[in-house]
Amino acid sequence: MSAAYVHPRLVPVFEHIAKHGDAFVERLKEYVRHPSISAQNKGIREVAELASDMLGALGMSVEVVETAGHPMVLGRFGSDPSKLTILFYGHYDVQPPEPYDAWVSPPFEPTVRDGRIYARGVGDNKGQHFAQMLAIESYLAVHGELPCNLIFLLEGEEEIGSPQISEFVRSNADRLKADLVITSDGPLHISGKPIITFGVRGMVSFDLKVRTAKRDTHSGNYGGVMPNAIWKLVNLLGTMRSPDGTITIDGFHDQIIPPTELAHRAAASLPVDLAEFMDELGLSELDEPKDRAFYDRLMFHPTLTINGLNGGYGGEGSKSVLPCEAVAKCDVRLVDAMTPEHVLNKIEEHIARHAPDVELVRRGGMLPSKTPMESEFTSPIKQAITMAHGVEPLLYPSLGASLPDYVFTKTLGIPAFVVPYANADEANHAPNENLKISCFMDGIRSGAAMMMMLGDQKR
Ligand SMILES: [Zn+2]
Repeated sequence: MSAAYVHPRLVPVFEHIAKHGDAFVERLKEYVRHPSISAQNKGIREVAELASDMLGALGMSVEVVETAGHPMVLGRFGSDPSKLTILFYGHYDVQPPEPYDAWVSPPFEPTVRDGRIYARGVGDNKGQHFAQMLAIESYLAVHGELPCNLIFLLEGEEEIGSPQISEFVRSNADRLKADLVITSDGPLHISGKPIITFGVRGMVSFDLKVRTAKRDTHSGNYGGVMPNAIWKLVNLLGTMRSPDGTITIDGFHDQIIPPTELAHRAAASLPVDLAEFMDELGLSELDEPKDRAFYDRLMFHPTLTINGLNGGYGGEGSKSVLPCEAVAKCDVRLVDAMTPEHVLNKIEEHIARHAPDVELVRRGGMLPSKTPMESEFTSPIKQAITMAHGVEPLLYPSLGASLPDYVFTKTLGIPAFVVPYANADEANHAPNENLKISCFMDGIRSGAAMMMMLGDQKR
């Protein structure tokens, strides 16, 4: 713990947390001992019940809600209209532990080594939402009541892509009515500094398919007569993005809401060691356009990526074939407020103009999500995290990747913040997943501090 300023009402809560630290670690070990592997449907039901019991023991009214897939665990504490309501979101399922022999200690026999707890799910995500639960317990133990109302939502299918979350949130919107959402998942910055993330990019995938003849032919006997499917496809792709990096599809950028000055400044102030980054990847240059700042690229601009190009012959030696069929697999990363549907419509119109015999196959998509950094909740969360960690958090306007955060910001229409608790080398999804005990303790303090600072906001 650091010597940074801590609110007087939090001091005894932090003392309680420190005093019970060892017991909290033992209880976390007990929780992660239970497998809940969504991909293999192992232990899901048992752990849903276990999580439900743990929330019930805090005094929450809890329900295990059935979905078309694995159940959601939904808890509620308090409904005082004069208090702020925080929705904590997490997931009780874990990744498969295979390969077992790569684990130093077995994945479901939690073991402490060098100040870290090793177990599948300890960082992603059980240790993080359990820290929120212990924050609630500790705050109640000291003050007898909470400074806010709480909704606790634990999903059982996050590790298999959250197939039910969108429908669940839509049909339970009234029960999920909160002032804001806090998700604690993922890692802290590599330096150990805490992070607050305000959004994610969205995405949409599609295929481009073309067939020019009934069959492949001889490139001599038919060359110059039969159109080549791969040329057709690469010519089309060439009209979609120019060599300087500009996406040249009419209307593609229509929906974009440019980032605010505050978001720009936040992105520019994030630490990045470009030389080390390029060295690690073996890069001699960054993608076009060259004059774009590192985090601007990841946070504020859409991309058009060719994931794969298939057709013709790619094997050993040569084969003088004239291919009749070619497929490009592509994805687009979307920024606020682009939608998968609009983007695919614009791509379809583009194809109709440039290569009408190419077929567009629409695949799945996910909306982007953005919480304004100007939100009234930014300052109390930032202060809370600073008190809990002793250092100020880094503010990420967005992640480059995609998560279904839109269910909160768009479906429920409330701000959503991601405040991770795990160490950067937590090895989630990999063997020897671990959580530093110090990060776990910082997480419990963070949960308590956020409830208090946010609760005070409304008083
Ligand atoms: Zn995960």
